[in-house]
Amino acid sequence: VKGFTYMVIIILLLVIIMPSVIIRGCRRQEEPSQDYIVRVYIDGQKRLAAMRLEDYTIGVVAAEMPANFHLEALKAQAVAARTYVVKRTKQSGGSGCALHPPADVCTDSTHCQAWLSKDELAKKWGPLGYIAFHRKIEKAVRDTRGLVIVHEGKLIDPVFHSTSGGKTENSEDVWSESVPYLRSVTSKYEQHSPKFVSTKVVPKEEFVKILKSKYPDINLDVKSVAKQVKVVEESTGGKVKILNVGGVVIKGTEFRSLFALNSADFSITELGEAIKITTTGYGHGVGMSQYGADGMAKKGADFKEIITHFYTGVNIVEITSIVSK
Ligand SMILES: [Zn+2]
Repeated sequence: VKGFTYMVIIILLLVIIMPSVIIRGCRRQEEPSQDYIVRVYIDGQKRLAAMRLEDYTIGVVAAEMPANFHLEALKAQAVAARTYVVKRTKQSGGSGCALHPPADVCTDSTHCQAWLSKDELAKKWGPLGYIAFHRKIEKAVRDTRGLVIVHEGKLIDPVFHSTSGGKTENSEDVWSESVPYLRSVTSKYEQHSPKFVSTKVVPKEEFVKILKSKYPDINLDVKSVAKQVKVVEESTGGKVKILNVGGVVIKGTEFRSLFALNSADFSITELGEAIKITTTGYGHGVGMSQYGADGMAKKGADFKEIITHFYTGVNIVEITSIVSK
């Protein structure tokens, strides 16, 4: 009888106590990023909103990456989006969005990172697309919950672009600062990008006019324009770093913005009375290539392999390891 009583007590203990221990354990895992609140300035509504980190991340991934991309690419984007905003929050020592204090981040993609509300996403995708795509992105965010990217223990600035054109850039070739985790790497699987190669045809006279309006010292003969445009230096990633146009030295990035090119990886040829500019890739070329990430995922890479490929020497860690509650 004594043995039986002990057994009953042990079983009761297991049944009553164990589930609560398990639930508490799960909750402890859920809590950090669920409780992490970010203050978002919504540009379209001109107001500040407090959001849960994970909910906010869904709106960023949906705005920044095509939802038909592979789930592992969406997961990589989710970890990058989360890292971006956590780095800016006060909780992690960040200084927030400089344009909209006291917000941590704004929804202007040219300043912080893009974010779309549920209403905006319903409009973008339509009712049926909304159900499928929202579920897919929610999964990408949930499966990577609380994960952020660090380099030597510090949150990184996870910059990204659409299409690298086959190779990404060293940060100092595009901007001034050399960042250890923003190194040039190959991106082999992005030929499916609609902007992998693009062309622009500009009449010779217009070409010369545009250049002279910005650089009055340029000396160009309309007849043999293409010969007077020379690449002086290329970046490690294959983009035009410096070129000489009719005796004037111009940065590749300046030429890119002058002719609104998809990237600074361009070449110039004559096409009768016009100049043909052929451009490879889309964007600044630094950090993660989104089409490259999608291509890697389709070849079987998971989000961790994608992130550690495009960001050199980084680790993916739980938010709790860098931000104290
Ligand atoms: Zn901002």
